[in-house]
Amino acid sequence: SATEGAESVWLSEFVGRVRESIDDLTALDRQAGDGDFGANMAAALGHYELPLRGSDADVLTAISTSFLVRAGGTSGAVFGVLFRQLASAFADSDDMRAALRDGTASALAEIQDLGGAEVGDNTMVDALAPTAAALSEDKSLGEVAEAAEDGAESTRDTTASKGRASYVGENARGVVDPGALVTSWLFRAAADHLP
Ligand code: ADP
Ligand code: MG
Ligand code: MG
Repeated sequence: SATEGAESVWLSEFVGRVRESIDDLTALDRQAGDGDFGANMAAALGHYELPLRGSDADVLTAISTSFLVRAGGTSGAVFGVLFRQLASAFADSDDMRAALRDGTASALAEIQDLGGAEVGDNTMVDALAPTAAALSEDKSLGEVAEAAEDGAESTRDTTASKGRASYVGENARGVVDPGALVTSWLFRAAADHLP
């Protein structure tokens, strides 16, 4: 974990990527959902001055709170849980790989418990589940990020049966789920910037 005052490079990269992509994320949720996903991401992450400073555990906690308090929609709750579980794992361990593995596994369990989504339901679980599996199999972070990206890409072929994207049914076919895409960006940032 970083010393006080140090930057969290991977989380800064992630937040920056989401913020540069608000319009694209809005477009995806407009095609396959109700169109508010980009606004919810902007509400959660738009207020930060980059780069983010502090230990990974502190930055993860702040991001979690931002999702839970500032963002509406399903994504506020779901990403709030993801970042809260990662924060707690990073606070508990100096081993970043173990923290990423344990936090991701706990997040997947809580998100599925909360929202009932299974793999194939066209949600961020389609990215998070293969990521958790790759981490538990001790794959390299590059392979973990690829698992997340392949999982996100797999949502192109499915229609939503959970969440509000289910209202538009077949319209979701051919469209990547924005929550799955953002999830893959977090693990890409980890692969590119964590030691
Ligand atoms: P809403 O669906 O309430 O408009 P958002 O647009 O902010 O909320 O978030 C939609 C995202 O939430 C989807 O892209 C999907 O990844 C995720 N999502 C929807 N339902 C679930 C669920 N049951 N479990 C996990 N993630 C979900
Ligand atoms: Mg929406
Ligand atoms: Mg909505």
